[in-house]
Formats: sequence, C-alpha cells, structure tokens
Amino acid sequence: MYHEATKERTLVIIKPDGVQRSLIGEIIKRYEQVGLKLVGLKFLTPTADMARNHYMVGGEAWLEGVGQKAMAAYEAKGEKSPFATARECGEAVLERNAKYLSAGPVVAMVWQGNQAVPLVRKITGSTEPLSSDVGTIRGDFTLDSYKLADIGSRSVRNLIHASGNTEEADKEMAIWFKEEELVNYRLIAEEILYDVNLDGIKE
Ligand code: ADP
Repeated sequence: MYHEATKERTLVIIKPDGVQRSLIGEIIKRYEQVGLKLVGLKFLTPTADMARNHYMVGGEAWLEGVGQKAMAAYEAKGEKSPFATARECGEAVLERNAKYLSAGPVVAMVWQGNQAVPLVRKITGSTEPLSSDVGTIRGDFTLDSYKLADIGSRSVRNLIHASGNTEEADKEMAIWFKEEELVNYRLIAEEILYDVNLDGIKE
C-alpha cells in the first residue's frame, strides 16, 4: 500500500469552450503525463442549477471572495466597479459562471495522486488566461482577459475548472459523481512513482 497522500483526489471540468476548441485530448494528456490517475470521467451538458450548486459549494465565503477579487480587478484598471458591494459583484460572477458552464457539453473528471489538488492547479494555470504562465493549459491554449470578459458581461473563458483545495474537491466531487462511479484500481505507473524499493525492475 502506498502512502495516504497518493490517494488525494480533485475535480476537473473541461468547460464548454474547452470542448468546442477540440482540446479534450490535449487537456487530459497534461494531467495524465505527470502521473495522475484518472478515477472518474463523464461527458454531459450541465443545467444552470447544477452549475450554480457547483460554484456555491464554497458558500458565502466563495461569493464574497470572488466578488472581492473582481472588485480589486476594477480598481487595478482604474475603473469604478458597477457593483456597490463585493457580494453583489460575487452574485453577478455566479450568474455569469452558471451561464458559461451550462452553455454546452463539458467533461467532468476526477484525478488522483500525490498532491493532486495543488498539482492540478499548477498545471491548469491562474484564473485569467492573459496572465497564466506559459506551459500551463490556460497559458498555452487561450487568450481571454478580465477586460474583454467585462466588456461582454461574461465570465473569463479559461477552458477548465479545477478544485481549489481538498475540502472544496470533496464537496464538488459529490455534486458530479456518485461514490460508485469513481473507479478504484491500481495503475502500473504507480509502482515507479510511489514504490519505495523500485522492486521488480531487474530481470
Ligand atoms: P479559478 O477557476 O481559477 O479557481 P475562481 O474560483 O476565482 O477561479 O472563479 C471561478 C471562475 O469564474 C473562473 O474560472 C472564471 O471563469 C470566472 N471568473 C472569476 N473571476 C472573474 C472575473 N473577475 N471576471 C470574469 N470572470 C471571472
């Protein structure tokens, strides 16, 4: 048995723009090639309610936090926010996100491995594609910015959702997958990634 840490799980969703850009294979490859194990996979068109539930797993704190982030972005641009409070701003982001996520089919996945949550965030890149590092999925495959998203009163199109922490991951996985839909199995590559003795390599 490998260390408990190797069993960390996180939720990834290829959003409708990722599917429409024909990036499903490329995105899956990025997570697969670091050694993460795919344990859940679904292709579906979410309803707006499902999308809202998904974003609201973080509760009021998420609403406030995402609102504050967006308010700060207006300030950084030297513009006045059209919203009076961070919460109001957060609610507008929620509605935009629900529209975005339910706009078409998405791929929902659960990936497992050592440090799966932060590792997936690193590979995915930061929220705004314009400032995501080169080499991350968002940095390499898209070009949207908060500015352009604001002009269109829409969410920034960044191809992927990835859970922010393990608590969020557990809540989000429960929205998209039943426990029995997650597959427990051993991946041969784990022998090399995690086995302490590298047993069985020599003839
Ligand atoms: P992340 O997806 O990187 O975890 P958040 O959880 O903060 O980012 O936000 C969720 C999603 O909401 C983002 O992926 C993005 O599509 C959208 N979003 C967040 N903040 C903004 C903003 N200021 N302007 C436009 N869209 C935003």
